[in-house]
Amino acid sequence: MITSHFEYHAPRTVPEALKLLGDLGEDAKLLAGGHSLLPMMKLRFAEPAHLIDLGKIGELRGIAEAGNEIHIGAMTTEHEIVNSSLLASKVPLLVEGAALIADPQVRYKGTIGGDISHGDPGNDHPALMMALDASFVLKGPGGSRTVKADGYFLGLYSTLLEPGEILTQIRIPIPAAGSGCAYQKLKRKTGDYATAATAVQMQCKGAKVTQVSIALTNVASTALRARDAEALVMGKSIDDALLNEAARLAMSICEPMPDQRGDEEYKRAMCGEMTRRALKLAYQRANQA
Ligand SMILES: Cc1cc2nc3c(=O)[nH]c(=O)nc-3n(C[C@H](O)[C@H](O)[C@H](O)COP(=O)(O)OP(=O)(O)OC[C@H]3O[C@@H](n4cnc5c(N)ncnc54)[C@H](O)[C@@H]3O)c2cc1C
Repeated sequence: MITSHFEYHAPRTVPEALKLLGDLGEDAKLLAGGHSLLPMMKLRFAEPAHLIDLGKIGELRGIAEAGNEIHIGAMTTEHEIVNSSLLASKVPLLVEGAALIADPQVRYKGTIGGDISHGDPGNDHPALMMALDASFVLKGPGGSRTVKADGYFLGLYSTLLEPGEILTQIRIPIPAAGSGCAYQKLKRKTGDYATAATAVQMQCKGAKVTQVSIALTNVASTALRARDAEALVMGKSIDDALLNEAARLAMSICEPMPDQRGDEEYKRAMCGEMTRRALKLAYQRANQA
């Protein structure tokens, strides 16, 4: 399949891209790595008359430490994330999660900003961002606003991003030294999306959990925060009985869509298993740190 006809634009700055987006309106789409948009265009699910390529805007790339946060440009690729020594030491959950996205070819081109903006419940960054308490910088014709990842994902292909806005930067608070984390993802084969996956970011004092966030991938129309499971493990030391109960609570909020990866019951069960494994591993890591 080939795409319908479109005009290609390659702005060099964010203001230039915003101006194009404003002038071209609904006929235009932003292009990042193209690994979600181009397949949709080839299937004619999307037929934009104009593509605004963000690839030549240097200020949208890069990973930097800024005070107690890590700032990541929206056009930073998964490959750059996986190979960042700064992220490996400060935000290892992100490196672990990005390494499980698709395959090397997709990771060379696919960007964190595109993954977040697409609003696909199968994408891994939404749950990773929620677990990490990340914020997103959105620039539009009226200026800039910063919004929390938790609450950003509204539903299938739907986010808080308004027409005319560009996601420019991802901001992640650096987890305290000695934190533990894990991303556990079940996929049928390399290059597939998650059947179910769970992200956990945790802090412990002695054997007790003092902070935890748990987020789920691809078990509903959007990534989910497993708040009841979080509340259950807070203040406790983790054992098998607690893991089973946390898994049950995570499963209870799932509303997975049956597809070639499994029916509803199987996906819910796999969400429970990924939650159990991610919590156990994050707890071990927090206690080793
Ligand atoms: C075979 C295959 C397997 C995959 N497996 C996985 C997987 O396991 N996990 C996973 O997370 N992803 C997976 N993906 C998706 C991949 O990670 C995509 O790269 C990602 O979803 C989109 O990022 P992109 O940079 O390619 O964005 P694009 O495809 O260029 O854009 C996606 C959408 O986001 C919009 N957009 C892009 N950047 C911005 C921005 N800065 N501001 C506002 N809007 C923007 C575009 O207009 C478009 O609507 C897979 C893709 C393929 C082809």
